[in-house]
Amino acid sequence: MARIKRAVPTALMFVIVAGISGYILGCTPVEREPASQAPAEPKAAQGQTADSDQVGEQPNQAPEDAAAAGQYSPVKARARDFYSPNSEDLGPDEMRLIACGTGMPTARPKQAASCWLLELGNGDKFIFDIGTGSAERIAALQIPYNYLDKVFLSHLHTDHFGDLDALFVGGALAGRQKPLRVWGPSAQTPERGTKYALDHLRKALTWDIDGRQGLTDPRGYHLDVTEFDYMGMNEVVFQENGVTIRSFPAIHALDGPVSFVVEWNGFKFVFGGDTYPNKWYAKYAKGADVAVHECFIAVPDIIEKFKFTPQSALAVGTQIHTAPEAFGKVMSIIKPRMAVAYHFFKDFDTTASINDRIRTTYDGPLSLSIDYMVWNITKDEIRVRMAIVDEDVWPPPATEKPQAPDATKRIPYSAEISGGRLDIKKVLQPTYDEINKQYGIHEKQE
Ligand SMILES: [Zn+2]
Ligand SMILES: [Zn+2]
Repeated sequence: MARIKRAVPTALMFVIVAGISGYILGCTPVEREPASQAPAEPKAAQGQTADSDQVGEQPNQAPEDAAAAGQYSPVKARARDFYSPNSEDLGPDEMRLIACGTGMPTARPKQAASCWLLELGNGDKFIFDIGTGSAERIAALQIPYNYLDKVFLSHLHTDHFGDLDALFVGGALAGRQKPLRVWGPSAQTPERGTKYALDHLRKALTWDIDGRQGLTDPRGYHLDVTEFDYMGMNEVVFQENGVTIRSFPAIHALDGPVSFVVEWNGFKFVFGGDTYPNKWYAKYAKGADVAVHECFIAVPDIIEKFKFTPQSALAVGTQIHTAPEAFGKVMSIIKPRMAVAYHFFKDFDTTASINDRIRTTYDGPLSLSIDYMVWNITKDEIRVRMAIVDEDVWPPPATEKPQAPDATKRIPYSAEISGGRLDIKKVLQPTYDEINKQYGIHEKQE
């Protein structure tokens, strides 16, 4: 786990100084811990001692201090140094960012493609990109789907919206009782825009959605799409509940891709979609609390691992995407409280090269992200941890009363297909009897 702290308020400083002997806090207006954060595997956090769950509370203590303070015990739990979903409140002046996809177009068990969940202390939650494989990461966070109804797409590559169908249908089945709202950019032609893509995605799901009619709560099976001008320069695309989200262009593959700036409660969060380093990000992301920006695999590894030709590796790794050295250059311009790099396979034999190349151009706070990395952001501190998730997770309860389906809406089978049923009513009747009795209903088999 890593913490990036700002100056501690005087009163808190007094308490800390009075309570902990021998620990000296920095007194500079903005104290930053050593810039580089160790590649944050869960194991990397285990060496921390006697840490606190409270953001902004006392700093890590030396082991001997913790022992003297009686914080070690063979029977008492110590504070966790990982994030466990559904186990922590979010403060009113706090943001939590969770990486739900950090990898490449080809999703793999360790890394889904681009997806970022931003949770605000006012209760709002925003999903930035929903790349292939990321819906399962979202599910692991145990957040009621009614709260996961706002998605912002940086562009229409499948590694940035490939799981939109999964969130749309799976979310509606699991408790989103309202339309899924999606914001995305226009392009040079209507056919390349978000509206066209999602109108056709909805059409592609005709069989899926028709087949669910009359069986479950129908309210979630609607897409509410807002297409905005991809050329907008820091133009507002969303403004509700004290949150403003702006968009500006990116340079990637074709006209159309964008990046987003979220402003809320004095915080600035920037999510950069795929891009060649661009002057708009350098301008509008300046001074962000957290700046997420793509950072592609180093060119030698693209050749070695992805088997690209040197020509393709150079074009893709430096011209279509942002090379690590270029990522560092961008961050050295905007100077965020925390720079977050993604869009690379983060392995034991790729991470060092990416880190070394970034460090040729940037020496500020840095997270080389991986799926399930978590950032808690307050005015005083940015705390970085890994989430440990439950693989047996079930959808959380719906936040509103479910609407009973209207069975008359079901679309019947043809006589030929219906006539193919085995006669197993006797086998199923005990289940009907059991449920009818338990819930005081009178359902009959078809
Ligand atoms: Zn892309
Ligand atoms: Zn991408």
